[in-house]
Amino acid sequence: AIALHDVTRRFPLKGVPDGVLALDRVTLDVRPGEFVALLGPSGCGKSTLLRMTAGLDAPSTGTVRVGGNEPAAVAGRQGFGVAFQDHALLPWLTVRDNIALPFRVAGKPVNAARIAALIALVKLTGFEGAFPRNLSGGMRQRVNIARALVLEPEVLLLDEPFGALDAVTRRHMNLELQRIWTETRTTTLLVTHAVEEALFLADRIVVMTGRPGRVAQDLAVPFARPRPVEVMREEEFHR
Ligand code: ATP
Ligand code: MG
Repeated sequence: AIALHDVTRRFPLKGVPDGVLALDRVTLDVRPGEFVALLGPSGCGKSTLLRMTAGLDAPSTGTVRVGGNEPAAVAGRQGFGVAFQDHALLPWLTVRDNIALPFRVAGKPVNAARIAALIALVKLTGFEGAFPRNLSGGMRQRVNIARALVLEPEVLLLDEPFGALDAVTRRHMNLELQRIWTETRTTTLLVTHAVEEALFLADRIVVMTGRPGRVAQDLAVPFARPRPVEVMREEEFHR
């Protein structure tokens, strides 16, 4: 579904004649329904790659296609569910309204039941009317994830979505993401620094190196994907 072909992205940098080579001839294919984890050191171009896939940035050279289309066309029909590192919630909107945003942007009627289900999924029931400033960092991340999933996107792009979560909540979100993926087989590209998370969730792990940003390894996860485990019991999660 995602096809990056020979993508190079160069950013200008003051005092550096050729600028920064954030991505250097990167070729990556993600098949429909596949879950790919992207690993690599800070600054190797992971976010740049995701932003490009979402049509938020364009390659200097090379091509990006999503289901054979220009990313902008897919973005236009709200085909992406994105949770980006710096994708701030709108501070003047409540949790509920932040999660409802994709409906409004798409000009679709707001599905209150779907929003309530996602709020429950990310364990924020009771916080529907809260504003982002009244939430912890991890709670804000969970709102971000709920918003990414709310329209049942064709392609899910997640950039370190669980970075600020404690180990128990992170595990819970991993299990939920695995369950969602198993049910929907949404094509997913996940950036993570956690190898264990990548092994647990992904079909394939793509390892990048920086300076310049390149794909160094592309590995099939070499064991059968564990079947989705029953999600932790409520009381266990809140302990
Ligand atoms: P991290 O794990 O820290 O999030 P990353 O792999 O996501 O790192 P990117 O954010 O993609 O890294 O950045 C890759 C390189 O591109 C870095 O050297 C960065 O300085 C540069 N870069 C990214 N975005 C821009 C921009 N808008 N303008 C200039 N340089 C940029
Ligand atoms: Mg990044």
